[in-house]
Amino acid sequence: MLYAVFIFDLEIVNYRNYGRSRIRLDRGINLVVGDNAQGKSNLLEAIYLLSTLRSSRASSDADLVRRDLLHTEFPVARLATQVERSAGNLMLEVAIVGRTTDASHRAGKRVRVNGVPRRASEAVGQLAAVLFTTLDIDIAAGPPLLRRRYLDMMISQVDRGYLRAMQKYARVLQQRNSLLKRVQSREASASELNFWDQELAHSGGIIMQARADALGHLVPQAQFHMDRLSDGLETLSMTYRPAVGGLDEHDCPIDETEWTARMLRALAGLRTREIHAGATLVGPHRDDVIVEINALPADFGSRAQQRTAALSMRIAEASYLRRALGDDPVVLLDDVLSELDARRRRGVMEFLDTFQQTIVTTAEPDRVRDVMTRAAGRFVVAAGTITRFEGE
Ligand code: ATP
Ligand code: MG
Repeated sequence: MLYAVFIFDLEIVNYRNYGRSRIRLDRGINLVVGDNAQGKSNLLEAIYLLSTLRSSRASSDADLVRRDLLHTEFPVARLATQVERSAGNLMLEVAIVGRTTDASHRAGKRVRVNGVPRRASEAVGQLAAVLFTTLDIDIAAGPPLLRRRYLDMMISQVDRGYLRAMQKYARVLQQRNSLLKRVQSREASASELNFWDQELAHSGGIIMQARADALGHLVPQAQFHMDRLSDGLETLSMTYRPAVGGLDEHDCPIDETEWTARMLRALAGLRTREIHAGATLVGPHRDDVIVEINALPADFGSRAQQRTAALSMRIAEASYLRRALGDDPVVLLDDVLSELDARRRRGVMEFLDTFQQTIVTTAEPDRVRDVMTRAAGRFVVAAGTITRFEGE
């Protein structure tokens, strides 16, 4: 079956360092060349934002609007794209309103899907994408927060219920934490916690179940690609480590209800400590995924090993999205190919060749000649303007 998903039209207006650019992209590999600080990462960030409605770097909406507009009356960045999909073509528009002096203009994102205004949460994943960046090395060896974000951004694109559970969990967590502080200072009674425990454990159960389920697909994929990219020299293991309790692969609750029950037990056991701490000490907001390279924790690994592990995790993500959606995600590679040796680069390219559309950036086209010759479309970014070019 021929999968059909690709961006054929993209417009960027007043986004970060961009003025106004509109390009047509091709099926297959699109190569974007540009010197440092010209707007390559901003371009991929913009496309990823159209997919997830969130910035891939931790930024406020105002940061995304072209800086010199921020003090004007109506500072707005605009992204628009047209996408071919098997589920029907998609037109997606996001307007990002920066800080305003005029109270009638609310700051934030406005989204239209096929011309109809939608909430951001309804537009997440309409255009599925996976983003590889040079910072990814940290998803293998960095803090747990990055691995939770890895799972969250991925699962949210395919599972609306997960996104809703995440939003509810965050709200309940905040309320429960402030209640814990009031119980601590004797402004509230501990029995008031019972209701919030139920609420938190209910959303928590949905989240933990979905994470365990996603990892069931991701783990063998990541292992397979680590083996392939390293020519059988390196092994990768990933193990879900939910904060609610010492689980290993032989002790994974099988449904949401069991996860919820387990979380309720954990909360009951920790109540005194939580009141003392004034904070919720257990739950998905403290989950981790333990990554090991050659049976040692990933932070023991060499840079190249960590980088290969992170690449394998991203490739697994692309394969997860493809399976869950029945369509290919658009694959975005921000400057990652030039830092790989020839063998690993070939390994990545082989995988990418099976996807409908990839967009690859580089500051050093000479280091990725093989990509250059195979690219269907070639573009140059300079000072926040992107243009197509023909020839070498
Ligand atoms: P590198 O090769 O170093 O990775 P790049 O081409 O990926 O460079 P980007 O990260 O896209 O560069 O950034 C390009 C420029 O955009 C930077 O100089 C940055 O200062 C600028 N920039 C970021 N946000 C804004 C904004 N809100 N308004 C104006 N300029 C911005
Ligand atoms: Mg960059």
